[in-house]
Amino acid sequence: MSNPNDSGNNESNIAPGSRSNSTALESARSDMVERQLRSRDIRSLRVLEAMGSVPRHLFVPPEHAGEAYTDSPLPIGEGQTISQPYMVAAMADALLLEGNEKVLEIGAGSGYQAAVLSLLAREVIAVESQPALADVAHERLTRLGYGNIRVETGDGSQGWSANAPYDAIVVTAGAPYVPPPLLEQLAEGGRLVIPVGPAKQQELLRIVKREGRVTRESLFACRFVPLLGRFAWPSPSSAQEPSRG
Ligand code: SAH
Repeated sequence: MSNPNDSGNNESNIAPGSRSNSTALESARSDMVERQLRSRDIRSLRVLEAMGSVPRHLFVPPEHAGEAYTDSPLPIGEGQTISQPYMVAAMADALLLEGNEKVLEIGAGSGYQAAVLSLLAREVIAVESQPALADVAHERLTRLGYGNIRVETGDGSQGWSANAPYDAIVVTAGAPYVPPPLLEQLAEGGRLVIPVGPAKQQELLRIVKREGRVTRESLFACRFVPLLGRFAWPSPSSAQEPSRG
């Protein structure tokens, strides 16, 4: 196995200097695609290619960069996690993206999933409720050159009406129920992929809107950090913080 631990792991060190380290990371990444994705049920070549191209080690804190290509979620600060690679790929797959879509992601976190989606669609608007995470994600995505992603700070359980409707919406935190604004902001033919259920375990749902009606399909069981907001779980602090800006 390659050892991504000796990469230096400094995000600003990505380029030419560390050729052997970046080769090791690239091989860890292609192993991830083969063993965790292709050998399971991820069939879309576009999704496999996108997963093989985004440098996940640059989206996790330096102390976790060595584990970036392992089969698990990782902490990203503020009590949040970057999802397991398989989950990112399965959600992208479920959105059935062909390349020309406007996508809304709720729960930008590290920005990793937005980066993957940005390679599969025309435009990604990624909403994150925690300003500290949104700032880091925005700065990172800009530095890495992902030009078709906008990071917005706010409560994504209300969607992001300014740019609606969306061809695809993905929610990367567990919701107690499907937030009505997300259904409203879905375009005709649009897909919403969202984990719904109790805090400890949810079902990943795909909801499709056609002629104003929705159909829902349950994909598999999963477990996500909670979606906190107006049309979601109540915030653990006594009062909901008003959104900034
Ligand atoms: N997709 C992310 C990981 C998401 S973890 C990645 O690739 O790194 C879930 C994220 O949802 C957390 O960052 C959390 O702060 C955020 N979140 C929780 N409730 C939210 C809400 N109502 N609106 C927007 N983001 C929310």
